[in-house]
Amino acid sequence: MQPVSAAQAVKVYSCPGCGGQVAEGTAHLVVWRADGVLGDAADLAARRHWHSSCWKVH
Ligand SMILES: [Zn+2]
Repeated sequence: MQPVSAAQAVKVYSCPGCGGQVAEGTAHLVVWRADGVLGDAADLAARRHWHSSCWKVH
């Protein structure tokens, strides 16, 4: 899990926490599995972008 600053958020993402969208230019969190079973490429493809507030209550 890693924070994404507003300046790094250059796309609109879907938040799995609330089902809504993380607007472009909004600081949020990117979360992924790091167990590496399927390799780094699969881990990167499985990244999910969460609103910071949604992740805290998750
Ligand atoms: Zn959300």
